[in-house]
Amino acid sequence: MFTKHAGGLRLLTVHAHPDDESSKGAATLARYVAEGVDVLVATCTGGERGSVLNPVMDRPEVWAELPRIRQEEMAAARDILGVGQQFLGFTDSGMPGPGEPLPDGCFAAQEVEVAAAPLVALIREFRPHVVVTYDETGGYPHPDHVMTHRVTVDAFEAAADPDRHPEAGEPWQAAKLYYHLALSRAWFQTLHDAMTERGVPSAMGELLADWPDTPPALATTTRITCAEQFAVRDAALLAHATQVEPGAAFMAHPRDLEREVWPTEDYHLARCLLPGAGELPETDLFEGIRS
Ligand SMILES: [Zn+2]
Repeated sequence: MFTKHAGGLRLLTVHAHPDDESSKGAATLARYVAEGVDVLVATCTGGERGSVLNPVMDRPEVWAELPRIRQEEMAAARDILGVGQQFLGFTDSGMPGPGEPLPDGCFAAQEVEVAAAPLVALIREFRPHVVVTYDETGGYPHPDHVMTHRVTVDAFEAAADPDRHPEAGEPWQAAKLYYHLALSRAWFQTLHDAMTERGVPSAMGELLADWPDTPPALATTTRITCAEQFAVRDAALLAHATQVEPGAAFMAHPRDLEREVWPTEDYHLARCLLPGAGELPETDLFEGIRS
């Protein structure tokens, strides 16, 4: 699954469902893999309660075997990105309607400290220098995304604390914790404007018009140049064939235009345990860690 205690740099990214690793930060992962960094994706749930979002995959035989198919899609995306990947073993919470309770036993219904235990064990085994996950809003309001944030923050702290989960291995303090700023309103707006200026039809206008009132985005502290890896990102995302419609707004914009107007994936540095504050903005998740 991953090289245990490898000598080089290690990056752990924690996601809610199979496909999230390919839609948020995938080009960053591919860039660090190309540099020789050991990259591990932890996937909290199996995506069992997800939908089939691609009309060509919306068939009874796909629905009947969705959990198995999503595992196969995850394995294909993992190989395309060149990363290691582990499921943490929780069950997808689905997207309950307003006032609807969470399903019994699902990921988001767990106690945070209890649900953090498998991630604490994984952090102590893999010993990442950098951990990446969602901000406290989850990036979008799915209960599993919000829970992934809570569990990752708890595990980031607990993994370093010898009094917590003492059965789960030697304590390990990761140096930095980042939150994704992917798929932001600014990203969609910039691409939409660039397409409109050039007379390219944009599929993003409707999405921007319906954009919900959200709190202001967290400050961008870190921009990772990864335009060369956009093709790998796209291939990984399309490997999640049940989850991605090839013509959806995210997939439809010209890639050369994206490389020109937004060639980075962006992050918010939420915790830094390194002595002395580094200069912001950063251009490397391992800034201050590389010797
Ligand atoms: Zn998700």
